[in-house]
Amino acid sequence: MTTHRPDTTPLEPNCPKCDAGIGQIHDDRCDVARCLATGLQRLGHNSCRCPQDVWTGRWPGEAECMEFGWMLGPGMPDLNRLMTTATWDPATHRWTPPTHRTERSATETRDEHPHHHR
Ligand SMILES: [Zn+2]
Ligand SMILES: [Zn+2]
Repeated sequence: MTTHRPDTTPLEPNCPKCDAGIGQIHDDRCDVARCLATGLQRLGHNSCRCPQDVWTGRWPGEAECMEFGWMLGPGMPDLNRLMTTATWDPATHRWTPPTHRTERSATETRDEHPHHHR
């Protein structure tokens, strides 16, 4: 049931913010770089000791959004949904989707982040 759709978004050869190439480490001040422990913006937590994030050719989270089908439009990943719904896996350095379920379990007590208003 995994459907691999062809990528419609071409890879960006360089980070739009710090110009790092694919596979290269972002600049310290680049706000595209992620903290690999939390998946959130690396900028702003100066004491971050995680391995440094590299530019992958895609906006962080975009690949996951495409994989999960969470796109607002071509080249427009629903990053807000990703941040609020998916879980960052610090081991694999990627977002994991919420467990598939057809109905919401009443015993599910896990707190979710508050949704942002559009
Ligand atoms: Zn960068
Ligand atoms: Zn960190």
